[in-house]
Amino acid sequence: MTTLIPASSLILTLAAITLGYIIACLVWPFKNCRRCEGSGKRPAFFGGRAFRICPRCGGNGRRLRTGRAVWNFAHRLHGDAHR
Ligand SMILES: [Zn+2]
Repeated sequence: MTTLIPASSLILTLAAITLGYIIACLVWPFKNCRRCEGSGKRPAFFGGRAFRICPRCGGNGRRLRTGRAVWNFAHRLHGDAHR
């Protein structure tokens, strides 16, 4: 009986984690691009210091977080629906 976790506390914990993630996505909508580690550059195969722009992030070194991309999509959908 003591090992049983009440379902309400589990739901509250999940809600807190979700809310925290949503806040994080609103405050910090970007994360470093994993391909170029935030530099926006990809080294050339040869040529020493030569580099090209990272194709994944378009050279800015930032990637929109998944949560924020979902938010933007929902926001755009909402805007289209209320035109
Ligand atoms: Zn990149």
